[in-house]
Amino acid sequence: MSAVRFVLSCLLFKEVVTLSGNFWHITDLHWDPSYKLSDNPESVCASSGKRPAAKAGKYGDYVCDSPWFLINSSVYAMRDILPDPDFIVWTGDDTPHVPNEDLGEEAVLHIISNLTHIITEVFPNTKVYSALGNHDYHPKSQLPATSNYIYNRTVEMWQDWLEPESQGTFKKGGYYTEKLLGQTGFRMLVLNTNLYYDQNKVTQDMDDPAGQFSWADQILTEAANNKEKVYIIGHVPPGFFEKKRNKPWFTPKFNKLYLDLIQKHHSVILGQFFGHHHTDSFRMFYSSEGSPVSTMFLSPGVTPWETTLPGVVDGANNPGIRIFEYDTQTLLVKDVVTYYLNLTYANSARGRWEKEYRLTESFRVPDASPASMHQVLERIANDRCYLQKYYEFNSVSYDLTECNKDCRIDHVCAAREVDFERYEHCLEKEGAAAVYGRLLPVLSVALSLVFANQ
Ligand SMILES: [Zn+2]
Ligand SMILES: [Zn+2]
Repeated sequence: MSAVRFVLSCLLFKEVVTLSGNFWHITDLHWDPSYKLSDNPESVCASSGKRPAAKAGKYGDYVCDSPWFLINSSVYAMRDILPDPDFIVWTGDDTPHVPNEDLGEEAVLHIISNLTHIITEVFPNTKVYSALGNHDYHPKSQLPATSNYIYNRTVEMWQDWLEPESQGTFKKGGYYTEKLLGQTGFRMLVLNTNLYYDQNKVTQDMDDPAGQFSWADQILTEAANNKEKVYIIGHVPPGFFEKKRNKPWFTPKFNKLYLDLIQKHHSVILGQFFGHHHTDSFRMFYSSEGSPVSTMFLSPGVTPWETTLPGVVDGANNPGIRIFEYDTQTLLVKDVVTYYLNLTYANSARGRWEKEYRLTESFRVPDASPASMHQVLERIANDRCYLQKYYEFNSVSYDLTECNKDCRIDHVCAAREVDFERYEHCLEKEGAAAVYGRLLPVLSVALSLVFANQ
């Protein structure tokens, strides 16, 4: 073999062992079909709930859900940026934030159908793994633990994306599992965590709605036996909202069961990908010994809609879409690249989707493994520069104000502790530091006065 051919074959070999893949994650598109430009800022969109849409333009407004123009722009931006991903993860919430009376089963299905259609049209040959959001049902958040009209109709809409067995479990409980891209050794688990949402009245008193926990436990046990690697996707995440102190989504019982599931099976779970927050954040899972074992990535939403949750100040975001880069041999998440649309600029000049940041560059970590994400969290917790950077990304570069001490505690404790009690302890621990921090200048002035008298 000539030297050149030897070098070439080495290069080819290297290529084979470090194969990298990528996939899109989009979430919370929240199309508002009522959006129209109007002289009256209160009547631009139903989803503003009479809040004036003062800066409304064709790409939308920060108090409104997405106009079709923004939906269209985001899906075509995906094609321009990465036209041939390995697959797409889509984690739900398709309909606008309007009262139940303004929607209905057919309206909800019509919206899911239109979004399904545009994704299929732009990515006709791409596998899509799709989870339901709490807004993908009528009445909202009341997703049942049994077969129903909306699950059945959604299966029809998604039939090209779902294997026959997946269609069966989806019809029963809105969840499914498949070999990832049909490959042996890799698995996707699509959960319906809306069943655990504390707003869901129909599942609240059940022990295991739709048998999803015992099913997931069984699938993950089999995955371990078969030496599979697994990704989990879903919509409503466990743990707390980082923009509002003490605001969880799951009921306490379901939060604990979810955490138990991940701690039991973390060795086969290589990533969890969720939405619902509309913000860009992540959640750490630790072993009982305290080592980082899993990360849940919370991807930003396409809708810029400012949340109406009491206590959240200026909770809007710029529209975001995200690429995950991963090792196709191990499913290790190697990097996270977020793209966004500056809505103000888009409305006033032109719609330009641009890279917001790359995780490994911005937080100086080698990859997005649990160990690296733990490092990211420690940087955010202990370094004001990293905290501020994280905070600006959290709203997709919309809120550029300073993240103060209380803000730091809320974000750090939400990312660190999914467990309700441990979150409380984190607040106390970090809060004590903040109280000390606030007292410190007062103390030093007092001490300097004392010492000045010496
Ligand atoms: Zn949402
Ligand atoms: Zn949601």
